[in-house]
Amino acid sequence: MARREEYEAVIGLEVHAQLKTRSKIFCWCSTQFGDAPNQNTCPVCLGLPGALPVLNREAVRMAAKAALALGCQINRVSVFSRKNYFYPDLPKGYQISQYDQPFSEHGEVEIDTAERDEHGRPIAWRRKRFRIRRLHLEEDAGKSIHDGMPDSDRASYIEFNRSGVPLIEIVSEPDFRSSWEAYDYMQYLRQALQYVDVCEGNMEEGNLRCDANVSVRRRGTTTFGTKVELKNLNSFRFLQRALEYEINRQIEVLENGGEIMQETRLWSEAEGRTYVMRSKEEAHDYRYFPEPDLPPLVVSEEWIEEIRRELPELPNHRKWRFMQQYGLSIEDAATLTSTRALADYYEAVVRETSDPRASANWILSELMGLAKAAGIEPFASPVTPSKLAGLIRLIAEGTISGKIAKTVLDEMFRTGQPAETIVRERGLVQITDATHLEAVIRRVLEANAAYVEQYRAGKEKLFGYFVGQVMRETQGRANPQLVNDLLRKLLTEG
Ligand code: ADP
Ligand code: ZN
Ligand code: MG
Repeated sequence: MARREEYEAVIGLEVHAQLKTRSKIFCWCSTQFGDAPNQNTCPVCLGLPGALPVLNREAVRMAAKAALALGCQINRVSVFSRKNYFYPDLPKGYQISQYDQPFSEHGEVEIDTAERDEHGRPIAWRRKRFRIRRLHLEEDAGKSIHDGMPDSDRASYIEFNRSGVPLIEIVSEPDFRSSWEAYDYMQYLRQALQYVDVCEGNMEEGNLRCDANVSVRRRGTTTFGTKVELKNLNSFRFLQRALEYEINRQIEVLENGGEIMQETRLWSEAEGRTYVMRSKEEAHDYRYFPEPDLPPLVVSEEWIEEIRRELPELPNHRKWRFMQQYGLSIEDAATLTSTRALADYYEAVVRETSDPRASANWILSELMGLAKAAGIEPFASPVTPSKLAGLIRLIAEGTISGKIAKTVLDEMFRTGQPAETIVRERGLVQITDATHLEAVIRRVLEANAAYVEQYRAGKEKLFGYFVGQVMRETQGRANPQLVNDLLRKLLTEG
């Protein structure tokens, strides 16, 4: 493994993202997931003879939003082409895609990326640019189902609800130099597509899919090695682990004097390895040609600019702004901007509290913990930004202690009541009255005369015990600083 350092990985990703349109890309069928098998079909998406495709305007809009979010240039004219191959779930015998005149090209994203230690923890973040070669529109194929159906020992089933669902394919340049760079890019891609609201971004459910191309070369060389294509990467971790495995496998082959074969390999998560699916000789010749049933796709400069104006602040910029404006760490800013809804929630709280640090802390540690345990998103809880801000204000004003505030938040989360109401009705207001507290403390010290003696004889550890007793007497409502001060005074006094 000493040799590992002498090599460098070269990785390019081909990502398919399902657009969230209500109808399919070339017909009016619903894209609803989970409907009865083959319910959402028509002559167009079943590929029946004579049926003609009509392009879905909304799919083009969404593709444009994605393209602009990823810094791509949208071509004024693009062309649909037929990609010919035979497959049972491809009834036309070709997929309508784009080939030599794609919808958009020349994108670039600048993102934070980090290598990880053996526990998957980021080591050091740095900003890096990754180029996107093209982003084009195409249709999805149907689905073959070989298991888990009645008779599936004798029959295969074909499901066409997915046939004709709009996809964008996003092809990167081979700019990634490690599995973690590819992983961070993929995470960013999902986040950006979610920010512009064009894709659900769920890899496990297959509405975001990724094929990875990977080769290795000796450090310092500029030519690329032979690449292998990896498939079956159904989660972010699979992508990262498959790349890591494949990089090591290729280095080992080369170190043993072997040669890398250009082939497609499948990742097996169960075995933790890749294995050959097909070699270059079996690769398809797709015989692309322009789709005669669709005119070229023409979009105007004004239309592109209109969409550009509709774009929200993108996730990387929002994160960097949060770090600058609110003084947050990269990790906290990343979590708070992970979705637009959470980032909006956070900023709504900050607007009311003017305390970015406390607002972040209460969301990141307490609210997110409660939400996670309840299986909901933090911004979907009954604790609205105003209500959380109300709680934070009560702490800042000294009405309740931070400790009591946690109890209050629990109840807010369960009942949706404002903090003020809970504090008032349950009598949780902090005791800051020194005379009152002094009386409580005197009682505690009298009841623990033996300990007081030991404390005065030098057993200073007992101080914490006295604090605990006072807190118990006051149901946690005593102002902690005041308890400390008074205790010290009374203990030295006596
Ligand atoms: P192909 O003609 O085999 O489809 P492309 O040049 O179209 O190959 O590239 C497909 C993907 O593979 C792109 O994402 C690209 O960045 C990546 N890629 C190309 N060459 C290499 C290489 N030598 N190593 C790793 N990835 C590569
Ligand atoms: Zn249809
Ligand atoms: Mg290619």
